[in-house]
Parts: sequence; structure tokens; C-alpha cells
Amino acid sequence: MELATSLLEKYSKAGPRYTSYPTAPYFTEAFGEKDWLDELKQTQSSGRDMSLYVHIPFCDTLCYYCGCNMVATHDYSKADSYLCYLFQEIDRVAALTSPARMARQVHWGGGTPTFLNPADIRRLFQHLASRFKIAPDAEISCELDPRELSREHIAALAESGFNRVSMGVQDLDEKVQKAVNRVQPEALIQQVYGWLREAGFNSINIDLMVGLPHQTVESFSLTLDKMLALGPDRLAVFNYAHVPWMKKHQKLIVESDLPDLPTKLALQKLMMERLADAGYVYIGMDHFAKADDEIVQAQRSKTLYRNFQGYTTHKDCDIYAFGVSAISQTAEVYVQNTKNLAEYQRRIASGGLATERGLRISRDDLIRRETISGIMCDLELDKAKFNQQWGVDFDVFFADALDDLKDLAADGLITLEPGLIRVTETGRIFLRNIAMPFDAYLRQQTTETKPRYSKTL
Ligand code: SF4
Repeated sequence: MELATSLLEKYSKAGPRYTSYPTAPYFTEAFGEKDWLDELKQTQSSGRDMSLYVHIPFCDTLCYYCGCNMVATHDYSKADSYLCYLFQEIDRVAALTSPARMARQVHWGGGTPTFLNPADIRRLFQHLASRFKIAPDAEISCELDPRELSREHIAALAESGFNRVSMGVQDLDEKVQKAVNRVQPEALIQQVYGWLREAGFNSINIDLMVGLPHQTVESFSLTLDKMLALGPDRLAVFNYAHVPWMKKHQKLIVESDLPDLPTKLALQKLMMERLADAGYVYIGMDHFAKADDEIVQAQRSKTLYRNFQGYTTHKDCDIYAFGVSAISQTAEVYVQNTKNLAEYQRRIASGGLATERGLRISRDDLIRRETISGIMCDLELDKAKFNQQWGVDFDVFFADALDDLKDLAADGLITLEPGLIRVTETGRIFLRNIAMPFDAYLRQQTTETKPRYSKTL
């Protein structure tokens, strides 16, 4: 793949990651708990299955690059008390949920879900399973931090029914690890990986990150060699999102230690070529999987979807999300819980839910969401299909995007064939930029109303 630094310079700009559309900064407090309760009641007969998300915000230490809603603590009593509130929240939503509905997917994220001790992992999963009907073949996944993880944690996950795990590695180079305050030796990663395989996990994802301080092509090449030698089923290679104005702790990263644009470009090329050579298929933004993985099949059959947990094969599920900052979703509504832990607990203690803001999407939002999803998941847009599905002409509806699309085509990121827009190989690393012309909110924003996103590359 030929990539020019000039392309990176042109397209390295602030933009959304499109895990939702409209994106979370446009959720509003005008849509609150009462609206969410009404939506829950009204959508029980929708026929849609469910995806359950649980957020555990605690971590033992703070990684300086972290972009998650998390609380660094060594005080386990905080998790004890958090679980009490979480159970109440689960109970309140479950009481409104039709018992006929099935959960096809369960995901625990954070923070670090395995901050919970093995007994509490079992207790939380049992609680969830006692309140919602979880399909026997459900995809049940958990994010892991290999540090502080014991065989007992893994046994608790396996015995509870988890069948997928995602392990944060980021980079194995010691200098990089020290600069981001996440020191985890290679031997530890290998040990935990071995425990997971022994426990029967046959879907293991490893998270890596490019753009971290002191990263070089040579150092990251070694990390890739070692991770590929393990043979994970999936790899997610994220770009470090440096947003110190939003995540104050990122100021602990020395900006002059971050790789410059040519190095970031070289890291991207290295990562894509090395993973392709090792037989991994590039799914779309940041994600790779072995060719026989169901996520690859889903992309080929155009049933892949993108939501707050990344790419999913469960497109038509309502997401019921529990815990601080968690985001729930029905076909037409997004809601987010308060991001403040004390406030979350106060709201649950007062007998309600912890909904802080949300949005009911318009038909315009819906059309644009499906279009952006087509770029992010299918890597193409079929105009005839669009015209038929929405009863409007693509070129008329997106008239204001056409100049940008021509520019993207001139730069080789997409091809404009009759009736078809297709993302090129080069365009795959610019998916956010290719989606942005379809985003009406980006066009409307003024300097004052503009949310500050991370850079696309
Ligand atoms: S373990 Fe994950 S959630 Fe916790 S601080 Fe590190 S990156 Fe953030």
C-alpha cells in the first residue's frame, strides 16, 4: 500500500469515531430518565433482542493514555458498594423488560472488569443471568487487564459462561510502557494468554496501540512479532487519542515523546502489512481477525454493525447498559448514565435510574447513521439500494457532501463508480474522514458549539 505523508497531514484532523450517530456530545439533558422509562416500556414488543453491557469503572493504576471512564483505586470496598447499586439498576431495568426477550450478547467493560474478585465476578454474572434471559449461544465477553489477573479470575469467567476475552497489551517495549505507566512484562502476557487457552477460551482479542510515546518502527515491530507468535483470534490496533483537554491525566504524557506524523505513518503501514502477511483480515477501523472468524464472515455478508463496544455481529439488538457512564440504545434512542461515580450511586439510591442525557434520533439522523455505518462496516455504499430503502435520491440528499467525496476520490481514498462508492485499501485507515462528509452535525457546528474530538490519525 502506498501512503504519502501529505495524505496523513491533510487528513489527520479532529473527528468522531462513529460508535454512534449522532455522536455522544450531541446527547442532551432534555432527554432524561422519564423519557428513557417511557422508551423502555414502549419498545418491549419491538421483537428486538438485547445486548447487555456492564461497566466496571475501577482500575488498580492509571494508564496515562486512558480515554475511558475509570477510577484508579486500591480500595476494594468501593467495588463492593458499587455492585450494590449496579444490582439495583439491573433489577429496575429488568422489571420493565419483557421476559420473552433474549440477550444475544453480554459485554463487560471498564475500567477493568477483572478488578472484581472471582467471587464477585460469579455473583454479578449470576445476578444478570437471573434477571435476563441469556441465549445459550450468546456471545459473552469481558475486557481483561493481565496485571493483577489470577487463574481464579479466569476460572470464574469461564465457569460463568464467558466465551470471549479481550486483553489490553498496547506495546511490549519497556520504555513505552514506563512512559504510559503501564508496565507489564512479556512473560506475564504469555502466562495469562496460556491460562486463557487452558481454560478453553477460543476467542481471544489482543488490544495494541500506535502513537504512544517513544514508539518506533523497530520497537513496535518486535511487539507485533511477539503478539503474532501467540496467535490471538483477533487484534485491535487503536490509534492513541491524545485529548488532554478532555482527559487531564494525559498531560502526564510528554508531548515531545509522541511519534511524529512520518513515524505514525510508518507504524500504520508496518502494522497493516505485518497483520495481512500473518493472515489477519482488516475488518474496518482498528480491527483485524482471522479469516474464518464470524466477524469476517459478517463483514462479507454485510451484517456487521458498529456500536459503543466497537464492531458487532448483533446489529438489531437494543443495548441495555448498566453502571456509571454506560450508554444504552434502542432503534431510535440513545441514553447515557451520569459519568460521575458519586452521582451514579446517589441517583440509584434515590430509587431511579442514573440516566443523565440522551437523544431521540430523527429520520435524517437515521439515514445518516445507516450511511456512516455502510462506510465503517461494509466499506461501500450502494446508491440504488439507498434510494430504494429511503425513498430519496442519494445525490440529492447528500448534495452538500459531493465535493468532499470527489476530493476523497482524487486522493485515492474512495472510488466513485456509477451507483457505488467504495473505500480503497488506502482509504481503510481514513474511515473516519470518509464518514465525516455525511455527518450533518459537523457541518452545522460553529467554533463555540464544536465538540473537540480526537485526531483521526
Ligand atoms: S486499565 Fe484500561 S481503563 Fe484502566 S486506566 Fe488503563 S487503559 Fe484506562
